[in-house]
Amino acid sequence: MKLLLFALGLILLLNQCSKKDVKSTVAANAANNKSVGASAKDILSGQTFTTLQIEIVFMPGYAPDPTALNNLTAFLNMLINKPGGIQITQRVIEASGKTTITLDEIKAIEKANRITFNNGSNISIFILYADATYSTANIVGTAYRNTSLAIFGKTIVNSSGGLNQASRTKFETTVLEHEFGHLMGLVDLGTPMQINHLDAANDKHCNNASCLMYFRTQSNMMSGLLMSSPVPELDANCRNDLRANGGK
Ligand SMILES: [Zn+2]
Ligand SMILES: [Zn+2]
Repeated sequence: MKLLLFALGLILLLNQCSKKDVKSTVAANAANNKSVGASAKDILSGQTFTTLQIEIVFMPGYAPDPTALNNLTAFLNMLINKPGGIQITQRVIEASGKTTITLDEIKAIEKANRITFNNGSNISIFILYADATYSTANIVGTAYRNTSLAIFGKTIVNSSGGLNQASRTKFETTVLEHEFGHLMGLVDLGTPMQINHLDAANDKHCNNASCLMYFRTQSNMMSGLLMSSPVPELDANCRNDLRANGGK
């Protein structure tokens, strides 16, 4: 009887655990399962969320470049109001075993691995560093949900650090900052434009060719065009939009 009770208790416990696991998936966390730009104000302003947590998972061989992450943190500190600070965690996950990866596969990896979600005054961002290239050619990173990014580590490694190529740090910084720009609602993607600067022909990008949010920023970096120039910055129009939506 005791054994049976013990067994029952164990089953209940296991049941609770699995329920908890199910609860903390993306689908069950509606606040982290919205479209890109939907949390722009929550990321920018300190009203609802005073701290920002970035959960990075990477596949073997594709750990983030530490300086690129420092650059991203400095970039965010310059733009967003998070008096409690920005915290980054990172850990390795299993390899995808694929050469190219689709958006559905990325979402499945997030579902299986993401452990942090918005909680109290903390807003959580998830970044996957994949060991494959994207199923759409020449894409280095993608913002695919309000708090989710994927970075294609293999594409970054292959397209940087060599002869006639930008440095790994510069390339990766550019990709991270550009994709974060979309999460912050740029351009006209959850953060209203103060004046029209939308590149109408190239979905949700800035019309200024020297702005970080220009549609060709990443491919220019990839083809070595920006090899000797610094990481592109946000232009005045993009900065003004962020300020007007709760940013600094
Ligand atoms: Zn973009
Ligand atoms: Zn711009």
